[in-house]
Amino acid sequence: MPEKNQYLNPNFLKKSLSELNVSELFQEIRDGNIASLSKGITLLESDLDDHIQKSNELLKLCLPYSGNSIRIGITGIPGAGKSTFIEAIGQQIIQGKNKLAVLAIDPSSSLSKGSILGDKTRMEELSRMPDVFIRPTPTSGNLGGVARATKESMILCEAAGFNVIMVETVGVGQSEIELHYLTDIFLLLLIPGAGDELQGIKRGIMEMADLILVNKAEKENADAAKRAVKQLENAVHYMSQNKYGRFIHVDAVSALQGLNIQETWDKITKDISAWKENHSFSEKRKDQAVYWFDQSLHNGLRNIIHQRNDWQKLYAHLKKEIESGKTHPFTAADEMLNKIINGK
Ligand code: GDP
Repeated sequence: MPEKNQYLNPNFLKKSLSELNVSELFQEIRDGNIASLSKGITLLESDLDDHIQKSNELLKLCLPYSGNSIRIGITGIPGAGKSTFIEAIGQQIIQGKNKLAVLAIDPSSSLSKGSILGDKTRMEELSRMPDVFIRPTPTSGNLGGVARATKESMILCEAAGFNVIMVETVGVGQSEIELHYLTDIFLLLLIPGAGDELQGIKRGIMEMADLILVNKAEKENADAAKRAVKQLENAVHYMSQNKYGRFIHVDAVSALQGLNIQETWDKITKDISAWKENHSFSEKRKDQAVYWFDQSLHNGLRNIIHQRNDWQKLYAHLKKEIESGKTHPFTAADEMLNKIINGK
């Protein structure tokens, strides 16, 4: 088995982000150098002007080599067993000669500075495997920024030859929509009997799922797991087929004991093949492309406001007026746009 960093070029890696030569970094990433891939992602997450320019160049170089992976989203409340599940299914994935990247989005880290995902050692065994790359959640930035960085990190991972990408997010309500726009298949991990009422998972999130997995369904919990599966099947039965003509499937697994994990991976690959055949795969990717276009346009327009002093001042002024109820938000937006477009 090759060493994890078999391609390591120590001189190159010593360079700071500002010293990096983008085409050299791109070549290292294409060669599958994991440490360079990591460096590239750090570059993407930085908001220094010089780094933004470099990361845009890097993305441009990587884009033609991206798009060919299976992108899997996984969500569930803390403790549902997400990292245990990824550890288990990850072993199946790499046995099939795939290269697996795991990226995390953690809304808690941007909201409270503390991180639910980052505070513990996760996926220890998997992280030692040569064909696996695990990237913890970025620790700064708002959720939109983190999701965008994740989207761009996926492009770098794909250019580095990773053909299965799992994006994990804590299911506390904020980040699932982003996950939906990042991935081809959406897994929701639940546990049996935990007070249920669907464990605070909103109906909208269930509707986004392709596969709902009741985890911790080993022998001792078998009855509770069966009940949970039945209950969930009833709930999703009344949800209509989603936009892409897909139905939600419910199943029981035990990540800890490896029950039904191989079957889950088989199901994922079969579903993806079927969706490629009936074009629902490309339909979803198309919708995602438009979503990210809109997102970056909005971000770009918002950034423009901060480029000029007078626009920034007007923005701050209007914000105060809105807060004090003196101006209506729509009127204020019109005034701001008028200033930018017509200079008045
Ligand atoms: P996460 O917060 O969703 O990533 O959850 P973890 O993977 O860290 O798991 C939370 C706890 O549940 C840990 O103590 C795991 O050992 C346990 N756990 C995970 N999967 C299973 C399972 O299939 N069965 C049982 N009994 N425990 C599990």
